[in-house]
Amino acid sequence: MVRDGEFRSGAQWARDFTERWWAERGYCFACHSDDRLEVLENNAPCWDFRCRACGHPFQLKGSLNKSGTTVQDGSYKVMTDYIRRMMSPTFVLLRYTRDRTVPQVAAVHCVFITKDAIVPRKPLTARPSYVMCSVRLADIPMQAKISVVENFSFVKKDKVREQFQKLSSLENRQVKGRGWMALILNLTQRLPAGNFRVDDLLAFRNEIEKQFPDNRHVREKVRQQLQFLRNAGLVQFVDNRGTFRLTGNPVASRLLL
Ligand SMILES: [Zn+2]
Repeated sequence: MVRDGEFRSGAQWARDFTERWWAERGYCFACHSDDRLEVLENNAPCWDFRCRACGHPFQLKGSLNKSGTTVQDGSYKVMTDYIRRMMSPTFVLLRYTRDRTVPQVAAVHCVFITKDAIVPRKPLTARPSYVMCSVRLADIPMQAKISVVENFSFVKKDKVREQFQKLSSLENRQVKGRGWMALILNLTQRLPAGNFRVDDLLAFRNEIEKQFPDNRHVREKVRQQLQFLRNAGLVQFVDNRGTFRLTGNPVASRLLL
């Protein structure tokens, strides 16, 4: 049986190892600075690292195994507050092994860490007032789950940054707008590959209305999101008669599926 002290020291080891690993090799995806990231010492609860050049914040999460469908995070209140103030960090999820290797690293772009993707966890009996949260990976669009290390090797920085910076162009959208765009991208993934039309997305009208019950103009809103996504280069207009397709073949990091 693993005693509490041993467990804690194991968790501490993992924390130290992953933090040091990323401090030595990590870089900013949001700009072209190759400087080492600044390590933040517990002064911002959701931020572990920050780019010295552009200030972009990152939160590091280590896992020993494939992380599954959710990522466990800290305080629900703090995280939702960060999201409301549009300060949520980009998540860096790092899978490590006991023999100190790192087979996979993936990033989740901050613009799609939305309120809808954060769920409260059941509090521990010992601390009933402290509610932690989980990030539901299924609610994060494929385009935001970016592969940084695959099979022990780093993906080319240019490729990572290109994918990341497309999403950064959506950062000027307010909190609710980000939720809309995430939902539309997620719904497009459920359509057959290839071209689609607004009507295809409206087949999910019930789900859309459930998430945004106040909206009376669903069709116009969906069309508007597609325009925003086109401006970011994530969606293409195939013709002027309302036919769309996703740009490229978005592939999510395998760590985050
Ligand atoms: Zn930067």
